[in-house]
Amino acid sequence: MSETILSAEPAIRLSIFLGVLAAMALWEVAAPRRRRDIPRVIRWTNNLALVVVDTVILRLTFPIIAVGLAVMAEDRGWGLFNNIDAPFWVAILVSMLLLDLAIYLQHVMFHAIPALWRLHRMHHADLDFDATTGLRLHPVEILVSMGVKLAVVAALGPPAIAVLMFEVLLNATALFNHANIDLPRPVDRVLRLFVVTPDMHRVHHSVDPRETNSNYGFNLPWWDRLLGTYIAQPAKGHEGMDIGIEQFSHAPRPLARPDAGSTRPRPGLGSCA
Ligand SMILES: [Zn+2]
Ligand SMILES: [Zn+2]
Repeated sequence: MSETILSAEPAIRLSIFLGVLAAMALWEVAAPRRRRDIPRVIRWTNNLALVVVDTVILRLTFPIIAVGLAVMAEDRGWGLFNNIDAPFWVAILVSMLLLDLAIYLQHVMFHAIPALWRLHRMHHADLDFDATTGLRLHPVEILVSMGVKLAVVAALGPPAIAVLMFEVLLNATALFNHANIDLPRPVDRVLRLFVVTPDMHRVHHSVDPRETNSNYGFNLPWWDRLLGTYIAQPAKGHEGMDIGIEQFSHAPRPLARPDAGSTRPRPGLGSCA
């Protein structure tokens, strides 16, 4: 079964990715939450091109990625769950929870450690917030993130299906919780008890540092609530808040070149002052 999962992984992931992306794009047109400042064509071209670059670099760097390592661990008896007799569903559930916690903690680290923040701020430098923002990640951040997932998989020995489901879910929720969609408030209130909603994650993209350093979760909202990093709503409201990073956004003077070359020059900045 594991071999089947492995061979089906690219097709499953690509089709769900494209399906969710298309659904979010349509939803954004039908019920947008905020007015766009930057033409979609510019941001979408940038963000989608980056996904392709990221994927190529990831595949060239790692001979094996998380699902593949889980299959290998099953074969060779590596990791906790390949050495204890836990029920299959428990192994799946615990593995997905711990992978999500690891991704949450990694995100906190990407904000806390200056060298990592220089990579991660590329994600925050998007001046609008829509589904493609969720894809806008520095290639090195993708590599670090895969390193973290590989370490968790090696230690935990999770069922390969759990890792595949986690990867697919993380991809889908990243598109969903960055989407510029207007969920009815009561729906958002209930939904955010179980999953990070766009209104919850948008707070994380505020230029206000207190808000930037909150709501780190991507899938489950519980880690933020448990560990004290949860902010329910942006102080200026979702329509009034500024998206981006203070140093790069809405500057009255022409923008200086970002230092260390960690962000690309972004056209269209002049229109958002
Ligand atoms: Zn962040
Ligand atoms: Zn984000």
